[in-house]
Amino acid sequence: MSLGEFDLIRRFFQRPGAQPGVAVGIGDDCAVLTPTPGQQWLVSSDMLVEGRHFLPTVNPAHLGHKALAVNLSDLAACGATPRAFFLALALPRADAAWCETFAHGLFELADRHGIALAGGDTTAGPLNICITVMGEAPTGQALLRSGAQVGDEIWVSGQLGDARLALEAFRGTLSLPGEGFAQARQAMECPQPRVALGLALRGLATAAIDVSDGFLGDLGHVLAASGVGATLQAEALPRSALLAAQPLALQRLCTLAGGDDYELVFTAPAARHAAVRAAGQSAGVTVTPVGRIEAEPGLRVLDAAGQAFEPGLQSFDHFK
Ligand code: ADP
Ligand code: MG
Repeated sequence: MSLGEFDLIRRFFQRPGAQPGVAVGIGDDCAVLTPTPGQQWLVSSDMLVEGRHFLPTVNPAHLGHKALAVNLSDLAACGATPRAFFLALALPRADAAWCETFAHGLFELADRHGIALAGGDTTAGPLNICITVMGEAPTGQALLRSGAQVGDEIWVSGQLGDARLALEAFRGTLSLPGEGFAQARQAMECPQPRVALGLALRGLATAAIDVSDGFLGDLGHVLAASGVGATLQAEALPRSALLAAQPLALQRLCTLAGGDDYELVFTAPAARHAAVRAAGQSAGVTVTPVGRIEAEPGLRVLDAAGQAFEPGLQSFDHFK
């Protein structure tokens, strides 16, 4: 069945019912959004390109989930409440079954976070998905990369490395047992953005970032923005039992430089240790202390015996 551009938007992306904060949604030239008094907008875009960010074999529902999840993860890192998002889609053809499954995965996650699709753009072309999210935080309270203070503890949410493990299995550089592969693939295709944790960390964390390109590189952004250094306990980085059963070099590759984790790395005063634990508990996610912020610039990485080592790993960079 051939489907026009406007049929496609109406059928799969336009949904009835008012959404808080969205005065005008899909259907006019612009969306009209009403800000909550006393709050600031936090806005972020992330694009997913076939062959670059996902394999052509991926289930469209997982793709819908992930395209929004990576954007919600940016809002989470800033401690923002999700409000509205915009979807720019290039599709090779107007495939109704594909769109329906994609929209299902997308809206399942959107509804869980109370975020409304308020507009977008649709065009023919190589499969490409660009989402822009908008969230809110009370004025001056957004979590930024630049606030880490000497003496702060460095924390990580959830677990790192399974997404990279799945990528390596897809590439054929290692093989995982069926159940292990399913677990790693779930981490790669269906990351859970830590929105509740980001909100719980407002007024508590001094700096935060989400891990998209690899832990070392993303922590490096916090250190650079904050003008500080750090010591990291590499073996304290939280990882699944599946990953912990792999050779140490692979564990380090996956946890330190894996990428696609969508966990939060954040800093908080050591005196607020118990409050950070409580924030994790209230958000339903484990939080693990992994190091300390120091005045001496650079990052010192220690092994389980407390010996410094040079990881020699690079974070992901599209142009390197
Ligand atoms: P314009 O030509 O003014 O840019 P369009 O014809 O591209 O408007 O889009 C019509 C309406 O549908 C607009 O409100 C736009 O925001 C919305 N829209 C287009 N594509 C999508 C999409 N993929 N998801 C959600 N809304 C969309
Ligand atoms: Mg348009």
